[in-house]
Amino acid sequence: MTVPRRQFDTLIIGAGGGGLRAALQLSRAEAHVAVVSKVFPTRSHTVAAQGGVNAALANVRPDNWHWHMFDTVKGSDYLGDQDAIEYMCRAAPKAVYELEHFGVPFSRLDNGKIYQRQFGGQSMNFGGEQAARTCAAADRTGHAILHSLYQQNIRAKTHFFDEYFAIDLLHNREGSILGALVLNIANGEKLVIEAKTTLLATGGAGQIFRTNTNALINTGDGMAMALRAGIPLQDMEFFQFHPTGIAGKGMLLSEGARGEGGYLINSEGERFMERYAPHARDLASRDVVSRAIVTEIREGRGCGPNRDHVLLTLTHLDADVIRKRLPAIRDLVLTFANTDLCDEPVPVFPTAHYTMGGIPTNRFGEVVAPIEQGPEEPIPGLYAAGECACVSVHGGNRLGGNSLLDIIVFGRAAGNRIIQHLDENRYHQPLADDCLEPALQRLARWEQTGDGESVDVLRRELTVAMEEHCGVFRTEEVLNKGVEKVIALQQRMPDVRLRDHSQVFNTARIEALELENLMDVAVATMMSAQRRQESRGAHSRIDFPERDDVNWLRHSLYHKTTQSVDYKPVRMKPLTVDTFPPKPRSY
Ligand SMILES: Cc1cc2nc3c(=O)[nH]c(=O)nc-3n(C[C@H](O)[C@H](O)[C@H](O)COP(=O)(O)OP(=O)(O)OC[C@H]3O[C@@H](n4cnc5c(N)ncnc54)[C@H](O)[C@@H]3O)c2cc1C
Repeated sequence: MTVPRRQFDTLIIGAGGGGLRAALQLSRAEAHVAVVSKVFPTRSHTVAAQGGVNAALANVRPDNWHWHMFDTVKGSDYLGDQDAIEYMCRAAPKAVYELEHFGVPFSRLDNGKIYQRQFGGQSMNFGGEQAARTCAAADRTGHAILHSLYQQNIRAKTHFFDEYFAIDLLHNREGSILGALVLNIANGEKLVIEAKTTLLATGGAGQIFRTNTNALINTGDGMAMALRAGIPLQDMEFFQFHPTGIAGKGMLLSEGARGEGGYLINSEGERFMERYAPHARDLASRDVVSRAIVTEIREGRGCGPNRDHVLLTLTHLDADVIRKRLPAIRDLVLTFANTDLCDEPVPVFPTAHYTMGGIPTNRFGEVVAPIEQGPEEPIPGLYAAGECACVSVHGGNRLGGNSLLDIIVFGRAAGNRIIQHLDENRYHQPLADDCLEPALQRLARWEQTGDGESVDVLRRELTVAMEEHCGVFRTEEVLNKGVEKVIALQQRMPDVRLRDHSQVFNTARIEALELENLMDVAVATMMSAQRRQESRGAHSRIDFPERDDVNWLRHSLYHKTTQSVDYKPVRMKPLTVDTFPPKPRSY
């Protein structure tokens, strides 16, 4: 049976902040845009972002974009590409004012300007006193942004395919990307969306770890689709562990809690961050704070009967401040830890949070990759933005508040680049039926049922293996075993079967497809981590404790077809200012 087709100028896969910002740019320019999302758009993970979005507005303290750029380069442990970082930090104030005009209800100062809180890794004057750069709508910033962008898209007549699951990218023999095969989750019907340009905006892959802050849908689908289309993934060894997840559960307590004055204590009641980061203390960069917590616990100063967490305390703060600035976090802690932040400290432990690596792009959102071992080139018709992409502004470690910024700045930039492309390329390229075959075959595999391995069991084993072998601290031995384990798990995939016919809903099929994606992303992450023999940003090797700029100041690229990792240089040269050369990093 032939699969029905629809044609659009642009297909955007993902309706989080990144996808919706790009869609808005395009729809307003009269492009014919389809946005596909596996959940209703406003349920995308962007909705969960709490703390805020960075921009040097200088509403609370002096600030400028160049200081923001310095902090981002330093935060990235010098692995970020400085042209992209300059571009993002310069664009930030305008991007935030645009959001304001789209209707985002930012919290306000008494003088009516946008409220800005202190976040980790922020400084004035290139490493001086703490800055206040994070624009917040209480602790529901992502919610406010996503809903405003969605409403603006409705107004601009963006076409939404809600609850459609993208299976794979479609390309012709020359390698041009011409759309995707998608599945209507409600009724299982397939649809080919043909497009002159396709943007991946599928978000992160936090679900490769058992304990994480991410939504269940963050399974790295776009990254895996790119891998299957022959595109490598960049810097996958850099996965951010957020210092303050609710211990044992993983839900996030925003850095905003420390930004408003909260701090960490160990079993001796000591404010231990003073020893690890004498200057910035609890507002040091996330990788630094996560390592400090794990070290305290390893050295026996953990709290609770099992000494397996530390405490975050806000009890010294005015309860009205907590109610006004951190209402959702207070609710979250009441629900999941049965504790009122105003009265008692909360048990916390680092939790998997953010995928720094992803699909390699330039600052225009074009996916760039070596084609058939050749030099790097833009892949015709393919773009990526947001957490699934690696542009790379976050390098080895992302600063809090820089991801919401990343998605709106590069969502917009990708939209603009696509508009340019559409102006120059007016017609659809033909997509032959046989180009659908690989994607259809992949799907057909999950139309059968029978006895075999279960999706749930394998997913569980995978996430546990990632947690045990690719956590905050890593060693060669632990990683070698990790690689063995994840590859063995992936080899069990052909034995996986969906159960008995009567119980097979499309959701079971979706979970199987997601598991395939998780496997690919997990292998990429573990292998990239095994290869990198240094400690940089979030990648901490006990056996290679120092950063090694001579050998490792370079981006990794993991290729699925050969299961191999190679490297490319960091773009050290900014657009207009001088390079920030690598320096020892202390807070
Ligand atoms: C709890 C939490 C709090 C955070 N707080 C902050 C913060 O305060 N500040 C900050 O800067 N950053 C924060 N972050 C990070 C930031 O929110 C995310 O990096 C960012 O929102 C990601 O946006 P995105 O558009 O790339 O993807 P997402 O918002 O994750 O959206 C992904 C989209 O892709 C779709 N999709 C995925 N796969 C498929 C498929 N196969 N088929 C169809 N559709 C698909 C999904 O349906 C969804 O619409 C936080 C993250 C978390 C988890």
